[in-house]
Formats: sequence, C-alpha cells, structure tokens
Amino acid sequence: MMPRPWNFSAGPSALPESVLAQAAAEMLDWHGCGMSVMEMSHRGRQFVQICTEAEQDLRALLNVSDDYAVMFMQGGATAENAIIPMNLLATRPARKADFVLTGTWSVKSHKECQRYGDAAVAATAASSKVIGGREQAPYTWVPAPSDWQVRPDASYLHLCSNETIGGVEFMDWPRLADLGAPDVNLVVDASSHFLSRPMPVERTGMVFAGAQKNAGPAGVTIVIVRRDLIGHALPVCPSAFDYANVAAEHSMFNTPPTYAIYIAGLVFKWLRDRGGLAAIERENIAKADALYGYFNDSSFYRLPVHPSVRSRMNVPFFLPDPALDEPFLRGAEARQLMQLKGHKSVGGMRASIYNALPLQGVQALIDYLKDFERTHG
Ligand SMILES: *Cc1c(COP(=O)(O)O)cnc(C)c1O
Repeated sequence: MMPRPWNFSAGPSALPESVLAQAAAEMLDWHGCGMSVMEMSHRGRQFVQICTEAEQDLRALLNVSDDYAVMFMQGGATAENAIIPMNLLATRPARKADFVLTGTWSVKSHKECQRYGDAAVAATAASSKVIGGREQAPYTWVPAPSDWQVRPDASYLHLCSNETIGGVEFMDWPRLADLGAPDVNLVVDASSHFLSRPMPVERTGMVFAGAQKNAGPAGVTIVIVRRDLIGHALPVCPSAFDYANVAAEHSMFNTPPTYAIYIAGLVFKWLRDRGGLAAIERENIAKADALYGYFNDSSFYRLPVHPSVRSRMNVPFFLPDPALDEPFLRGAEARQLMQLKGHKSVGGMRASIYNALPLQGVQALIDYLKDFERTHG
C-alpha cells in the first residue's frame, strides 16, 4: 500500500489512520454479526448500540450534562443555518437573533437567518482595522466582546468560533451575562475546531458542528442543544428538522447517516484513548506553535490574521508573489504534502492541521517551507 500523504485539507479532511484501519477490518463483518455497519437497520440492536456509545463517548469527551440533548443530524452546518432559526427564534417572544460576523461562515449564517426573522449584526469585522499599529484586513480580526451590541431581548447570539476559511479562532467563548444579555442564548458554530480542545458547552444554548472537519466523515452534523430551548419550532420547520422530534427519537426520527455516525464514534474512542480533549489540545498547541513559530521567524511568508486570533486548526498564509503559488503547490505534492491551496475567496495557501494530522506532518511541512524559502527567497 502507498504510504499515506500528509493531508492538509480543510474538509473533508484527514481521519486517524487507526480509525480507518479499524473500519476496514470491520467492513464486512461488524463484531461477528456477519454484516457491515452499512447494511444494518438503524433500529436494530447492533446499530442502536453503536449510536448510543457514540453519544455517550461524545458526552464524556465534552463533559455535556443531561441538560443538553445530543443529536446526530444531516444537512451539514449549512442546513443548520436555517434549522437553528426555525427552532430557536421563537424561544423568546421578540423572536430576534443577533450575529457576530467574523468571516465567511458567520456571514452566511446571518444571511440565512434573515429568511426566517429579525437577524441583526451585533458586531462585524467587515472593515479593515488598525490594531497595535498593524493594519488588519477585513475578517482577519475579531471585534472585542465589550463592543458587541447584543439586544437583551434576542433569542440568541450566533458566532462561529473558528472561521475555517479566514483562519480566525475565538480562544474563549463569552458569557453573555457579562455582556449585559443574561437571557440571550449563545449559539456556536464550532465545526472546524470541534473536539480540538475542551469547550465550555455549559455557557451556550447550543453548539453545532459538521463532522467532516475534525470529528468524522461528511454526512453527519453534531447538534448539542439545551433541552429547555427545544419545542419552539416555527410551523414552517420540516418535522425531520424539529429538534423536539429528533431529540425524542434519539436521532432516529428518520434514518440517520448510520455509517458516518459509526466512523465519528470510532473517532470519539480514538480521542478518549489519547487522553481526551485536554491531551489533544496540548498536541494541537504544539503543532500550531511549531508552524506559527516558523512563520514568525520568516520574512518570506506572510500571515494575514491578527496574532491574537490565529486559528490552531486552519492556517492561511501567503507567498510573496502569487506567481509562486503553482510551483509551491507542485513542490509540496512531490513531497506528499497535499491540499494546501487556500480557499478561492482568500487566495494564497491554507494548512489545516486538525486532530488527525500529527506533529510529524507539521514538521514535514515546515521542512518544505524552509527549503522553498531558501530556493525562492
Ligand atoms: C464547513 C463549514 C460549514 C459548512 O459545512 P457544510 O457541511 O458544508 O454545510 C459551516 N461552518 C463552518 C465553520 C465550516 O467550517
């Protein structure tokens, strides 16, 4: 078999090799039952066990209390942009939602919510800003929570805690009581740093994540909602997307994405066996420190994002001249460093260094960055 390349894709992205190996070993016969997981009834004993364990392991990793429902849904974070307002706008009489705009994904969430009700901007990084003498381009910085205009009667405040495309990460999640909005529920799109670190779910009304960035394959969306917010769906909400139905049926209101849930469940066990989220966070800090440390010492590459909010997961960077982009990517592929091209809306390069990409892979990238700088600098 070919040696596996280092995969820097932003999503769908690298999965732990041991998870893939286990799935391969179990492909034709899951635990002696003679069936593939793909062939099982979602209501059968075997799959119910797989799904229940996945939920329990996820709860244990993130320390999610029973005050919250954990659901495995479909449609990705994009569908949640509509599903959330349909479920949560009416949790308070004013039916308002506020948004913090820090990049592509939060902007999309805000836009989608406008189709369902009163969606306002609490803060935006859409303009450039001078911070500490450094000019920050739009969406490369985060407005300070003390400047957010949260409407106290809003049902919720939505933020994207890691902007996958721009590479902007919230290092902490705010407590809305500290912002004068104690009754507003925080809603967090954590898709691209989900399970990369411990997360204060208890500060939120809900957290959601498409699995394909850091938690599993495409096809399953992880949705964690505080139970008192469930049961307020607007009449327009499809019944398969009404959290009350999905929670009551333990993600089996309709046929769930069974194989994706199974693989995500294996990833949860892999994380548990590595020591849980505090341990994986230490690894992620070591990886990010190594890569950003190299970039900080280099006058060749340029990092767009303000140092205080540089994502540990998605690292956009620019070469000094876009004409070098193609040779850079060709040379990278020759060294088995794959999928480094930046998102088309930003340009340049992006290295996504999720949980499944080991420090060794980051070091291979740094070695290449150094060599490329030496030959082209
Ligand atoms: C990828 C991504 C999305 C969209 O996910 P889909 O599965 O394509 O719907 C939304 N938010 C964030 C932060 C993402 O990284």
